[in-house]
Amino acid sequence: MVLRKFLLGISSSSASHNCPTPMNTILGTHCPAPSPKLQFLAMSAFPKKPIPCQWRRRQISAAALLDLVPDTKKEILDFDLRPLEPLEGSSTLDLAVVGGGPAGLAVAERVSGAGLSVCCIDPSPNLVWPNNYGVWVDEFEAMGLLDCLDATWPAAVVHIDDARRKLLRRSYARVDRRRLKSRMMRACVAHGVRFHRAKVLKAVHETSRSLLLCSDGAAVPAAVVLDATGFSRCLVRYDKPYNPGYQVAYGILAEVEEHPFDLDKMVFMDWRDSHLAENHPDLRRRNAAAPTFLYAMPFSSDRIFLEETSLVARPGLGMDEIQERMVARLSHLGIQVKGIEEDERCVIPMGGPLPVLPQRVLGIGGTAGMVHPSTGYMVARTLAAAPVVADAIVRILGGGGRGSGEEVAARVWGDVWPPERRRQREFFCFGMDLLLRLDLEGTRRFFDAFFELEPAYWHGFLSSRLFLPELVAFGFSLFGRASNACRLEIMVKGTMPLLNMIGNLLEDSGD
Ligand SMILES: Cc1cc2nc3c(=O)[nH]c(=O)nc-3n(C[C@H](O)[C@H](O)[C@H](O)COP(=O)(O)OP(=O)(O)OC[C@H]3O[C@@H](n4cnc5c(N)ncnc54)[C@H](O)[C@@H]3O)c2cc1C
Repeated sequence: MVLRKFLLGISSSSASHNCPTPMNTILGTHCPAPSPKLQFLAMSAFPKKPIPCQWRRRQISAAALLDLVPDTKKEILDFDLRPLEPLEGSSTLDLAVVGGGPAGLAVAERVSGAGLSVCCIDPSPNLVWPNNYGVWVDEFEAMGLLDCLDATWPAAVVHIDDARRKLLRRSYARVDRRRLKSRMMRACVAHGVRFHRAKVLKAVHETSRSLLLCSDGAAVPAAVVLDATGFSRCLVRYDKPYNPGYQVAYGILAEVEEHPFDLDKMVFMDWRDSHLAENHPDLRRRNAAAPTFLYAMPFSSDRIFLEETSLVARPGLGMDEIQERMVARLSHLGIQVKGIEEDERCVIPMGGPLPVLPQRVLGIGGTAGMVHPSTGYMVARTLAAAPVVADAIVRILGGGGRGSGEEVAARVWGDVWPPERRRQREFFCFGMDLLLRLDLEGTRRFFDAFFELEPAYWHGFLSSRLFLPELVAFGFSLFGRASNACRLEIMVKGTMPLLNMIGNLLEDSGD
């Protein structure tokens, strides 16, 4: 499997930012360099046909499954959106949000609710988000978003192998993405947010405002610019080599004859590999070195979301490899797919450096390094961060003496990535670096110990609630519960990541 990286023209100029096209994709070995459009498709949730070159040729075993994938079905909301023109009163908006994903809308909703003028720029603001988001119920409960969940399971299971299974007594849910987006859009519309249907290509900064140059030729003036463009990282600048790990997954929402899973438990991770034992020696060997697991949300006895997932790898696993493994697993589990309602291809960059802090353009969500580096989860963390970002913008813009655009941005960035969050992220990156070095057996040993931890530890780790002192205690507790083989592995394979983390923490504290 080859991961091709396309790092496209990220501007390093402080005066203007060009918007690169989405930057990475996971492709088969001999495909020609994809067009920017193809790269975008590889990052999006629905498969697009035709499937490119060798990638299709090597899909023979998965072809039957892919044939069931329907053509893209776009769900559109019918909000009557207030357009950008004319700008009444002041000719400069308080805030321009680039990107109408969960991160961007959450900030737009809150800043506009405080009475500031906001414009959200997105090519399709009424399009329902495509991803299947899974969250822990307590995370959404804490934000008053329980009504935006469409299915919940009182518990989750982890299959370490054929003999060991963990029951996690923590409720899990699938987000009702239509309802969540509708709720945010309704609030934005009620608060007077303007929507501009376009892609932002570039930002040009003046002393007290920025101009966003859009694909339709419009120039949107705003005192503050927030880049919420997800993993395409449109405007936010990075000054260190971008070297993330990649979570890669292929998921289907399927109608099946039957499946073997309990309806009151979702499958958080299934690391069993018995499906590869007899007929798939090559797949088994590759899975032993770079493992994938099954994630499943059973909605009924004949409707289920199934996702074969590589937790993290560098380079990322190829989508074709993941599909082959999924087909072998489903066949072994006796899951006969009758139809596919939708599918998703998930390529999530994890870890890597934070953006330049501070910088003129603000960021949130995928664009600002908020994905959990050890798990790939982000939606709950981002929605929890949105009020912090929004309130900082409101406080500074609403407080009279705004200062220059640079000063305003620097103060908001201080709230987005305060020292304790940066230290927390370093620890999560250490976790990712360790996971990257584990094979299937090592990964099993790790999660065997991880899910034996006190719930406060594993809940807190997965939901970004532990900060450095607690994370150190978490680390000792994990080490204490680990088998001797796991301890040895952590010491041998974790030493470099640990030293990297300490070095980064020292560098950060010296800044
Ligand atoms: C398939 C998939 C499944 C995922 N599942 C989960 C999950 O189960 N749980 C979880 O916690 N996280 C999950 N994630 C990770 C993360 O939560 C999501 O990626 C989430 O959508 C990120 O939110 P966002 O608002 O930062 O970016 P996005 O949702 O990606 O939204 C970005 C928006 O910006 C727009 N945009 C992009 N470029 C421009 C431009 N130049 N100009 C204007 N607009 C632009 C896009 O059209 C899009 O509307 C998943 C990710 C993927 C890809």
